This record gives sequence, C-alpha cells and structure tokens, in this order.
Amino acid sequence: MIENYTSTRNHNIHLSDKEAIKTGFSEDGGLFVYPDLSELKIDLKSLVNASYKDIAKVVLSKLLPNFSQTEIAESVKKAYENSFDTTKITPLVDVDDFHVLELFHGPTSAFKDIGLQMLPQLMKHVLSEDDKVMILTATSGDTGKAALEGFKNLEKMGIIVFYPHNGVSKVQALQMQTTNGYNTEIAAIKGNFDDAQSNVKKILNDQKLKSELGPQISLSSANSINIGRLIPQVVYYFASYIQLVQSGQIVLGDLVNFTVPTGNFGDVLAGFYAKQMGLPVNKFIVASNENNVLTKFFQTGIYNRNIPFLQTYAPSMDIQISSNFERLLYYKSNHDTDYVKKLMTDLDKTGEYQVSDEVLKRIQADFYCGFSTDQEISNSIKSVYQEDNYLMDPHTAVGYKVMRDYQKLGDKTPMILLSTASPYKFSRVVADAVLDKVPDDDLEIMNKLAQVTQIPIPTNLAQVWNLPILHTDVIAKDQMENYVKSKVEDNFYDKN
Ligand SMILES: *Cc1c(COP(=O)(O)O)cnc(C)c1O
Repeated sequence: MIENYTSTRNHNIHLSDKEAIKTGFSEDGGLFVYPDLSELKIDLKSLVNASYKDIAKVVLSKLLPNFSQTEIAESVKKAYENSFDTTKITPLVDVDDFHVLELFHGPTSAFKDIGLQMLPQLMKHVLSEDDKVMILTATSGDTGKAALEGFKNLEKMGIIVFYPHNGVSKVQALQMQTTNGYNTEIAAIKGNFDDAQSNVKKILNDQKLKSELGPQISLSSANSINIGRLIPQVVYYFASYIQLVQSGQIVLGDLVNFTVPTGNFGDVLAGFYAKQMGLPVNKFIVASNENNVLTKFFQTGIYNRNIPFLQTYAPSMDIQISSNFERLLYYKSNHDTDYVKKLMTDLDKTGEYQVSDEVLKRIQADFYCGFSTDQEISNSIKSVYQEDNYLMDPHTAVGYKVMRDYQKLGDKTPMILLSTASPYKFSRVVADAVLDKVPDDDLEIMNKLAQVTQIPIPTNLAQVWNLPILHTDVIAKDQMENYVKSKVEDNFYDKN
C-alpha cells in the first residue's frame, strides 16, 4: 500500500489512506493530511460533461489511491444512487447576483449527508474479515443524524452519537431519537458540543481502552477530522464549478469565490483541497456566527477560545475549536509539524495560540473571514425571501451576510454560497423571520411555513414527528467512556 498520509503533528508518521480512514485521527493527537495536494491536479476539461458521480470517482481516485477502481465505483454508487432527492446531488440555484449551492438534498436534509453517506461505504473496504469498528461521533446537531443514517445496519460496524442535551433543535433531537437500526446508540450529554468533541477525542486516544478492546475491535470517528468524510466534500466544489460552466455562466478557467458557513472548518477546508488540486478559486469567504473565534483570529493572528460559549440561531456552528483549522495550519506553515504541535499544545494548555505574521498572511491570501449576529441572521432570511423569493436556513444566512460584507470590498468574482441545511431543519428561526404570526408548536410551524412559502417539506422531516422515540439516554460528560465500553459490549461481544 502507498503510505500517502501523515500527521499534522509528526511528519515521521506515514500511513495509507485506508489506515487513516480506519483510525480516524493520529495517536499524537494530530489529524491525518495528504502533504502535497498540488501533485493531485485534476484536469478540469475532462469534467465538462461529467455527472456528480463521475466527478466523485475522479476526485476520490486521486486522494484515495489504495482503493481499487471497483471499490471507488461501488462506494460512489451506494452512497449517492438512491439516497438524494436529485440526481445532481448538489444542485446550484441562481439567486439575485449569486449562486446557492444546495448541499441539503440527502436523507437528513443537511450537508453532512454528503460526507456521511460516503464514509461508511469507504469503511467497508478498509475492514478485514474479523475487524469490527465502533464509530464515535460528537454532534452539534446535524452530524449525528447523518452519521446514524450512513452507518445503520452495516455489518461489523456500530455507531454511538453524543449530542449536547438542550443544545440541538427540536427536530434535530427527534431525528436522532427516532433512528432505527440494530447498531445505533445515542446519548445526550450534560455539556456543550466542545465537551462532547474533546471527550470523544480523549476516548479515541485512550491507549488503555484500546488494549482492553483488543486488536479486533477498533474505535473510529465520523467527525470531519476523519479524512474519509472530508474527501467526499471536495467533490461538490468541482461539481458546482462544472455546473456554472455547463450553464454558460463562466468559461473553463474563470475564477470563482465560495462563501462557506463554518463551524469545524471541514467544509471550507475541503474547498481549499479543491483549490490545491486545480480548481480556479479566488477567495474562500469563511462565515461564523457570534462564536466568532475565527474572525478575531483573522484580524489578529491570535486564536483564543477563552470567551463565553454562545447558543445562536445557527447551532450547528456553535463551536469554539474548529478542529480542521489545524490542517490548514499544517499547510500554511509549509508542513512544519513541530510548529503545529506547539500551537496545539498552547491551545490545550492556555486556550489560545498565536501564529507568525508570515503564516497569517498566507492564510489571508486564500481566506476572508467575518461573522453574523442572530439579528443579522433574521434580517438576511427575511430580505432574501422578500426580495428574491428564496428561503434560507439560518446557517446559510450567516454565509449570506458575510458574503455581502465581503462583496462591499469590491470583488466582483462570481460567487457561490454554500447552503448547508434545509430551512425546515430550523423552522422556528426561519418562521420568526418571514411569518407574521408564528405558532407555538414546532410541527405547526413547519406546516405553516410550507403553506405560506409553497416550498415542500423534505420527506424525512415531515415524517419524523410520527415515528416512535427509540433513544432516551442522558448522561454526564464524564460518563462517556463507560457508555462506550458498555455499548461495545452490547454490540460486539457474543452473549451466551
Ligand atoms: C456542520 C454544519 C456547518 C459547519 O460545517 P463545518 O464543516 O463544521 O465547518 C454549517 N452548517 C450546518 C447546517 C452544519 O450542519
């Protein structure tokens, strides 16, 4: 096998794409990265008539060379053939003078489906005969359900999802609690998303637990720290560009900008991968909500998470540690893994780090960053609906506001705004912005919104209200490891 991946914190580590997917992240605490992305240039001309699935095959083959063509073709087929409500998978919609890339046409109506329909299919080809893997996932709302849908009822795999108790929307909670499947486990934890995420990382890194479980049972992650989830996201950057070429709105080689509502920095990092692989991108506009650690970083070079954690209208982006930002630091420090390790140790110990002016400048060359308040989210949803008859979810609205701020600086490059969720996933905030009178009940809100806007409710969200609740566990955040142990036992140990 070609050992084409390394760790952001230790360049002496070399491992294959398959090993990287199986383990999720590196024992030294770092994330797996492909060092020289520019070696993987994609010939855009060859994609001009390609479908989404064809583009997926090309991108995946480049980044995952240890997978056979058959394995890639089978994974792409299984991931995207029947689970999305459009064959375009990620359709591009023209709104006013920009283009919305709708990433929410999968089985759970959030962009997470794109990575999480694919990751389990890749995982299948990574496990050997006797291997079993328990997937651990921390979720701020959308990842959980998308991961459950991707992994449920797959042989040799189990999935445990941890979400912040009272930290997700009503419909997000219902989506998870009603999940069927013999291998799905869900616990609400008394803590926020960062607690869930850092504890999952700790458990995945626990060498004692690892030896207790033995060589046949491994733990892995479905968070965007797993490259098997990140890589499928590179595809829609190419696919949206090709859609603009196909509709004659740009010609091959023209530059475009992407605005990306950002939390863990996975989505926008996938865009950066696409750019390294030859996609003509001018700027990535990174949009945060009021948890604006990244915006301050872009202004000062100081990443400081020692600020109050806020619950906003865009809860899937309520994050203070953007895990995937570590990968960008790796690339922008010219693969200086000692440097990245030092920064991450600083972050761990003091809650902050500062990068050199040089590194900050290199980051600013590709990225612009801003944020949106809750009030601005509401205003954006309302004005785009009234003026352009397009209904955005609150996360997309965060992107919209920062996109407009950026455009005021004078850049006229064609703009693609990534839309990361169906407006019906966050009906209450959307209804408050566009309806005169908002019902109390969540289901009624959804129905009223559909009645007024005439935009159909995605089937999975319409049905979730009638399904039985199958999962009710609520645990303390220091009980997560014990929970994992008992669920591994339930799922993988023979019971006599
Ligand atoms: C996860 C998520 C985001 C943030 O994406 P990252 O890859 O974590 O930056 C934005 N919007 C929605 C709706 C999401 O679910």
